Amino acid sequence: MAALTVSAEDEKRVKAMGFLNNKGTDNFSGRIITVNGKITAAQQRCIAEAAEKFGNGIVTFTTRLTVEVQGIPYDKIEEFQAFIAKEGLVTGGTGSLVRPVVACKGTTCQYGLLDSFGLSEEIHKRFYEGYHTVKLPHKFKIAVGGCPNNCVKPDLNDLGIIGQRIPEFDEDSCNGCKKCTVEAACPLKAARVVDGILEIDKSICNNCGRCIGKCRFDAIEDGVYGYKIYIGGRWGKKIAHGRALSKVFTSKEEALDVIEKAILLFREQGETGERFARTIERLGFENVEKQLLSNDLLERKQEILDAKLHLVGGATC
Ligand code: SF4
Ligand code: SF4
Ligand code: SF4
Repeated sequence: MAALTVSAEDEKRVKAMGFLNNKGTDNFSGRIITVNGKITAAQQRCIAEAAEKFGNGIVTFTTRLTVEVQGIPYDKIEEFQAFIAKEGLVTGGTGSLVRPVVACKGTTCQYGLLDSFGLSEEIHKRFYEGYHTVKLPHKFKIAVGGCPNNCVKPDLNDLGIIGQRIPEFDEDSCNGCKKCTVEAACPLKAARVVDGILEIDKSICNNCGRCIGKCRFDAIEDGVYGYKIYIGGRWGKKIAHGRALSKVFTSKEEALDVIEKAILLFREQGETGERFARTIERLGFENVEKQLLSNDLLERKQEILDAKLHLVGGATC
């Protein structure tokens, strides 16, 4: 095997740019950000050409919807970046920062309750790009799921959003039918006819909206779209299920502001090296929720961003 020539310092420098060393070699995998797992045919062609021109011809897909081109020699890194930039593609996605956003295909999925590609693109612009120079105690992963089916496991991310449709039940239209079609349509058995009237048990209902339009007497004709937000999930060496904030947000702006507040809180109150789950555990969920629902963190945004914190974060990949 040829002697390795890239210094540890240079390896670290290019890692921060999204180039991960291929073990035992002087070559690197270039991690390309897809924004939300959606790339054009022209971008795919460009990645394929770049893989043949600069790498070993292999393209791999990561669990967080990025694309890695393997086998790029150290001295070809800048050229590779310039080549993919022609199609608007960039590398990155490493370090103790907001990581690439993961989204399910809720925009086109029959169960989708929100435009997951559109929302994740907004999150990407505002928090992946917008917070790219903001150092955090550890990595911060965000996922957007179109409905409570949880295909992209939003509750196993530092912050996860799940599309909601809250059924609006008109009691006056309910006849307490022997065979209730709403009851039959509810996958969680949250809707049941009790004492001659339909009841929805809010402690079971996950706002999937599947019951809407199912009553032949129009007792559930409509529903309000919303966003449920989970905080403090993580996967990996230590697993933690995120916990949902008690409020279901019906305004997109408000939901986006909660994400920003969560990042600011993590930066300000997280200890270097800990994941958000641990920060929440230390501070207490109720305390964190209270801060995320008030405006204090956003009012102090500049002060939090200006502080000298987490100069070396805890992320190792
Ligand atoms: S989470 Fe829901 S909307 Fe997203 S892909 Fe799965 S079923 Fe479809
Ligand atoms: S919700 Fe509709 S189908 Fe169900 S019991 Fe009431 S009227 Fe009948
Ligand atoms: S929203 Fe979903 S879980 Fe809730 S009552 Fe309707 S079908 Fe059942």
